[in-house]
Amino acid sequence: MSINIEFADRVNTLPKYLFAKIDELKKEAAKKGIDWIDISIGDPDMPTPKHIIEALKEAAENPKNHQYPSYNGLLELRVAIANWYKIRFGVELNPEKEVLPLIGSKEGIGHIPFAFVNPGDVVLVPDPGYPVYQTSTTLVGGNSHTVPLRGENDFLPILSEIPQDILSKAKLFFLNYPNNPTSATCNLEFFQEVVEFANRHNIIICHDAAYSEIYFDGIKPVSFLQADGAKEVGVEFHSLSKTYNMTGWRIGFVVGNEDVIAGLLKVKTNLDSGIFQAVQYAGIKTLTSSQDCVDQMRRIYQARRDTLVNGLNNIGWEVKKPKATFYVWVSTPNHLTSSEVVTKLIEEARIVTTPGVGFGYYGEGYIRMALTVDEQRLKEVIDRIKSLQFKE
Ligand SMILES: *Cc1c(COP(=O)(O)O)cnc(C)c1O
Repeated sequence: MSINIEFADRVNTLPKYLFAKIDELKKEAAKKGIDWIDISIGDPDMPTPKHIIEALKEAAENPKNHQYPSYNGLLELRVAIANWYKIRFGVELNPEKEVLPLIGSKEGIGHIPFAFVNPGDVVLVPDPGYPVYQTSTTLVGGNSHTVPLRGENDFLPILSEIPQDILSKAKLFFLNYPNNPTSATCNLEFFQEVVEFANRHNIIICHDAAYSEIYFDGIKPVSFLQADGAKEVGVEFHSLSKTYNMTGWRIGFVVGNEDVIAGLLKVKTNLDSGIFQAVQYAGIKTLTSSQDCVDQMRRIYQARRDTLVNGLNNIGWEVKKPKATFYVWVSTPNHLTSSEVVTKLIEEARIVTTPGVGFGYYGEGYIRMALTVDEQRLKEVIDRIKSLQFKE
């Protein structure tokens, strides 16, 4: 005899996490010993810089750091975050109220609808987009309204297209520039327009800036909080994951509107108990020491970008060079669907990419390639694709 175990409806309605599916596929491939090139996932292949690891080791030795951390993080970490923001973006933040460390930004993005969205409320979600915006909305019984990001509008949403009846029910609006998966960037004028939109319709802006430091050709992306009045209408999520090759460490933060942060903290206080304090000390070291390691990382990704994009163009795929992120968003050849192309690349070239449709309806017609393998492997990607025939 065993009991009948049934998932809750809210879990049953969740799609399988995109990358969980790809992980399964890779496990099968590994068993067969096939030489795969995996450029499907946005997880840096390079190690965390040494000085950060040393800071963790030292902090891990101290028994004081073995106990529960505070819910809102070490003040010293919040001060380090505020100073980093001041230096990078010229934005002033109060470390007491306008800064909250997170167990990775995904954690904060996943929890924020719990604080502000009632069942039946609407959340505006970019499509294509990072899947968590939509699934966290589903988990609280909210309805996501898809805001299309189209190539002809440089993957920026057209705010005037969102219907009035949706706007009156909308509580949150997720945005993400530099963008995953399209690699699009935006300018300060766009963010200024977003602030006005938020004020007009009383919607909280949640801007995800996970890729703000992965930029090329020396052109730095802007912060949402640089727009006038942004702090009155929203917050910005950040992460050490991509900037410092720390995806496994689980440390990020959210900054901006103090009431929004207070709401999120109230939820978090009841669900988690903060970030391992040794990781917080390593985070302080990361943000306060030399940023040369980030320059070096940008140079590596830029060289990879050039290798992959030039290579694709040489074999007749028309691809633009991204200005930021470590993704290349590639139109599928001959109007094939993204799944057709991804399957063909897996089966005939042993290359794993991500189908655009996995990021939403408007991701159809594209595949995403990540610059998370070295240049030699990217040249191999081009060599393998070169001999394939993509027929309509
Ligand atoms: C990687 C990623 C994150 C999550 O990063 P964390 O490791 O949870 O800090 C958030 N948003 C986007 C768009 C990402 O690609």
